[in-house]
Amino acid sequence: MTLPEGGLPIGAFPRPDVVPYIACWSSEHRPTGMVIAKGRGIAYADEGPYERDDMGVLWKRIGISPGKGRPEFGKVHFLRQRRAMRKLLCQVCGGPSDRTREGTLWLVGEDPSDPGPWKPGDVTGHPPLCVPCAVTAVRACPHLRKRYVALRVRSFAVAGAHGALYRPHGLFPMAYGAASVTYEDRQIDWILAGQLMMELQEFTVADLDTEHAAYLRRAPL
Ligand SMILES: [Zn+2]
Repeated sequence: MTLPEGGLPIGAFPRPDVVPYIACWSSEHRPTGMVIAKGRGIAYADEGPYERDDMGVLWKRIGISPGKGRPEFGKVHFLRQRRAMRKLLCQVCGGPSDRTREGTLWLVGEDPSDPGPWKPGDVTGHPPLCVPCAVTAVRACPHLRKRYVALRVRSFAVAGAHGALYRPHGLFPMAYGAASVTYEDRQIDWILAGQLMMELQEFTVADLDTEHAAYLRRAPL
C-alpha cells in the first residue's frame, strides 16, 4: 500500500533565530550513488554496512557536518529526520519533544488537496516538537497558525518511508517518482528512503496557547 499522505510537503518549520535540527547545511553533500537491482529490490553497487535502517530499507546518502556552511532551510537532512523520528526529538532544537499524559506534541499540516480534520491513521514526515519551539515557530509565521494544527498524540508507530520509488529495468532500476510506502508493501524494497513516516493513531487536537501556559507553569524557573 502506498501511504495516503496527510500534510504539506515535508520541510523544516522556520524559526528565524534557530536553524532547525533536521535542516541541511550546504556542506552536507548528497552523493547519488549507483543504484542497482539486487535480490528483491534495489541496492548500492558499492553498498556499505550502514546504508540501510533496521527494517532493511535502503537510504539516500548524505554527509553529516551540521553547522558548517550555510543552513538550507526547507531541505531536510535524511538521517537527522530519521533520528528525530525514532528518538522523538524536537525537529527544531533537537532536544526531547514534549510529552504529557495527553501524549506527544506534533504540529501537522492540512493536506491542500484534501483540507479537513486530521484523521487517525494519517502519516507525517514531520518529527514532533517541544512546546517552546512549536509556539515560536507558529508565532514567527502567522500563516502556520492557519495551516497547521497541534496534536497530542497518545499512540503512534513508524509506518514506512518516503523517498524515490524505483522500478525494475534490467541491472539499473529507474526512479519514477516520489512516494510513501508502508513496510508491509513489497514496494518498500524499491524505495530509496529520505524520510521516516510516522502514523498518528490516537490523538486529540490541542490549543498551543493553552499548551504554552501549562508548559510555563510546570517548567523550572
Ligand atoms: Zn524544541
